[in-house]
Amino acid sequence: MKYLSILFFLMITSFTIGQTTYLQCGKLVDTKNGKVLDNMTIIIENNMIMNVENGFKTSGSDQDIIIDLKDKTVLPGLIDMHVHLEGESNPKSYLQKFTLNTSDRALRASFYAKKTLQAGFTTVRDLGGSGANISLRNAINQGFAEGPRVYTAGKAIGTTGGHADPSNGVRKEIMGDPGPAEGVVNGPEDAKKAVRQRYKNGADLIKITATGGVLSMAKNGQNPQFTVEEIKAICETAKDYDMHVAAHAHGDEGMQRAILGGVKTIEHGTLMSDKTMEMMKEYDVYYVPTLTAGKEVSDKAKIKGYYPDIIVPKALDIGPKIQGTFAKAYKKGVKIAFGTDAGVFPHGINGKEFRYMVEVGMTEMHAIQSATITNALLLKNEQIGSIEKGNYADIIAVDEDPTKNIKTLENVVFVMKDGIVYKN
Ligand SMILES: [Zn+2]
Repeated sequence: MKYLSILFFLMITSFTIGQTTYLQCGKLVDTKNGKVLDNMTIIIENNMIMNVENGFKTSGSDQDIIIDLKDKTVLPGLIDMHVHLEGESNPKSYLQKFTLNTSDRALRASFYAKKTLQAGFTTVRDLGGSGANISLRNAINQGFAEGPRVYTAGKAIGTTGGHADPSNGVRKEIMGDPGPAEGVVNGPEDAKKAVRQRYKNGADLIKITATGGVLSMAKNGQNPQFTVEEIKAICETAKDYDMHVAAHAHGDEGMQRAILGGVKTIEHGTLMSDKTMEMMKEYDVYYVPTLTAGKEVSDKAKIKGYYPDIIVPKALDIGPKIQGTFAKAYKKGVKIAFGTDAGVFPHGINGKEFRYMVEVGMTEMHAIQSATITNALLLKNEQIGSIEKGNYADIIAVDEDPTKNIKTLENVVFVMKDGIVYKN
């Protein structure tokens, strides 16, 4: 990974050497200090921010590039902690399991990655696909595809019949008995093997499905599906490889087991009790709410035939509850990390999550910080999530000040990643 990013860096340097870019910003969101600054200039060389200065600066050299964003608000590139870049939910999704090859998924992933980047998300955490998401990350890093920086879990880990069991709902002759390599574990030994296999495959982190899920071909969307021992085995093994663990969870018991087992983030968290919110704080676990997924899935469930029958009651029950849980958790001081579950709904509308967060009481600045500095911290990448000297030049702009109108983040007008402009 490090070698690849150096290679990419050299590629960029070879055609932009000697040039300095002056990005003149009418307003600039300082995510570290939670302030909006007026009339600033960001000075960029290659893929790095060299300095951030007061006022509108230029160098005078005609070699240099000036980008005029004087009537825009500039922010660091956004970070979504929960996407699935390999696919996009549609009424045929369940059939596509049998018709699409990994190469089909990879090519689609490259298309969705571009859409995501165009929406202003310069970094994402991909929480599960077939493994094509690993190839996608590599292709982006090597300059073969356009997309955000990708941190990927590869294929998610579940238990037999659980939310990430790839053979759920299919007839017995082809169901087989998937194991750790396919992401299905039963017992701590299997759990360790599944983590090591993901490390070997090139995953950056681990995703588990601690409870049932809405969109799997199974009856229950919230039951606990791992023992604490299994989750502990996963988290302890993941730590050996410097990987963190993200846990999908709707039901409360499964969430508590995941927290006790050592996960770093709880995804969805639909039925999180007061006690679990306290545990989140005590164990320093972050909540990734995915409000957009809740909204989109319950809307689609009302369209006859969009989802298989077994999914509909789960979607109608679980979807609408997430926003209320989020409001309560935020008020209680649970740490919030921005994440949408894009892929469950169309890629590129990730920015809608902000309005749902603000709608139920989160401040605009906190929402922006949850998608920038908080997520940078979770990904252990100090060079993203804020605009300051020494950081990667991942920069976006919007028409209005998002601390006054959060919906402006749904229409990003300028995107730079790693010093390259992808939208202006
Ligand atoms: Zn998901």
